[in-house]
Parts: sequence; C-alpha cells; structure tokens
Amino acid sequence: MDNQADGSLFQTTADGRSARAILQPYEDIYICPFFEPKSSECRIYMKRPLDCRIYPFALMYNEDGTEIVLGVDTICPFAEAEFETQSFQQYVDYLRAYIETELTTNILADNWALVGPFQETVTIVAVLRKLGRALEQRRQ
Ligand code: SF4
Repeated sequence: MDNQADGSLFQTTADGRSARAILQPYEDIYICPFFEPKSSECRIYMKRPLDCRIYPFALMYNEDGTEIVLGVDTICPFAEAEFETQSFQQYVDYLRAYIETELTTNILADNWALVGPFQETVTIVAVLRKLGRALEQRRQ
C-alpha cells in the first residue's frame, strides 16, 4: 500500500487499482473514517462498501493465502447464535451464489482490496474459486 499523508479517506493499493479506507485514531483505538462515535452511526450507511453490507460474513484469503473464501465472523453474537440454523445456512448458499455471479465476481476482482487477510475468528463456509480465478486473471 502507498503511504497517504494528505488527509484522504482512502489509501490506494500499490497497483493503483483498488483502495481501502484509512482508519482514524479515536481515543485509544482506530476507527473507520465514516463511523460517527457520538451517535454510533455510519455516515455513509446507504452507500457503505460491500464488505460492510455482508458483515458478519467476510471475504478473505485462507490461512496459507492460496484461496479466497467466504467466512462468518464468530465474534458477532448473532452469527454465533444462528450459525447452525437452516435459515442461516440458506443465507450462506444465497450469498455464495450472489458473490459468484459474473457481475459481482467482476466487481470484486476490480476492487480486490475488499478481500481481506485471513482472520482466525472467521469460520470458513465456502471456497470462492470463481473469484479466485478472476483475481488471478487480473494480475496476469
Ligand atoms: S458500516 Fe462500514 S463504512 Fe460504515 S462506519 Fe461501519 S465500517 Fe465504516
């Protein structure tokens, strides 16, 4: 990633093809620049990025970085409580199918910074091979 010292809200990736929001210091932690701590609201809620929209699901690399996976963040109390239910598993299938549509796969491949690093608290529920292949093609 490039260093960004101009007060911008986003940091462009080294290849210039994607970007991530730059976390901002707040008290003793770092927070999303669009989070309003006083009201606990997102200032861009209607236009929030895909990774925020799908939380507690997460797009990330697996532990050895060889595949892109869909996971569920078990830190989320709702996800932990509902994980085994039929409706939750149906939503997993729906979300996997949505991500692997040609349109969504291409959007994600063009904005690859939305795919995060492996997180130990995330339980992997699907391997996204189509997205992995699309990203690989973009890099060639
Ligand atoms: S929903 Fe996303 S963009 Fe909005 S405050 Fe939370 S992390 Fe930031």
